Amino acid sequence: MSFADLGLSEELLKAVTDAGYTEPTPIQAGAIPSVLMMRDIIGIAQTGTGKTASFVLPMIDILAHGRSRARMPRSLILEPTRELAAQVAENFEKYGVNSHLSMALLIGGVSMGDQLAALEKGVDVLIATPGRLMDLFGRGKIMLNGCSLLVIDEADRMLDMGFIPDIEEICTKLPKSRQTLLFSATMPPPIKKLADKFLSNPKTIEV
Ligand code: AMP
Repeated sequence: MSFADLGLSEELLKAVTDAGYTEPTPIQAGAIPSVLMMRDIIGIAQTGTGKTASFVLPMIDILAHGRSRARMPRSLILEPTRELAAQVAENFEKYGVNSHLSMALLIGGVSMGDQLAALEKGVDVLIATPGRLMDLFGRGKIMLNGCSLLVIDEADRMLDMGFIPDIEEICTKLPKSRQTLLFSATMPPPIKKLADKFLSNPKTIEV
């Protein structure tokens, strides 16, 4: 299996080559074609398996080739920690350097000024921790009803950190008709329940 077999655009294939990757990891080979076909996904994979690229690469292609509703985020990536959110943002910038997509990193522990300015301008992608996202949403600063692609990353860590009620609430604010990708290193019963409730006919990829 090569990256060229996965259905990614030429621009993304170039980004992958520029990153120095010669072949997709198993989670990438399993997930990317299905994400591009707009399926819901459960990815059972640890950090270090290349799982970030397995959702960031197809997300960039979907957003870059879809039509944008002005100033409304079209995609939301939820991460349990600031560090993970920042890493995903770095990946997004690296792979999407030629995509002209814009992003806001919404994490706690830093002032809201830059985040509010980015939201005012309008962004395509939100990369957020649940607490800061809920805070900004509560203040009326974020529109979530255009987010038709949701990634719940590190779901088992979200569970350990007590974020599941927040995630459930966030899910109810997104369009019902959307694509949802859930990644978790393990699948304890509360995460299975979350997936049953918020994913539709998902394809499971376990690596
Ligand atoms: P992740 O599991 O997303 O945290 O990725 C772990 C590391 O693997 C990161 O440093 C990526 O840059 C790297 N990586 C991702 N995909 C590939 C690939 N197909 N080939 C080689 N390295 C990769």
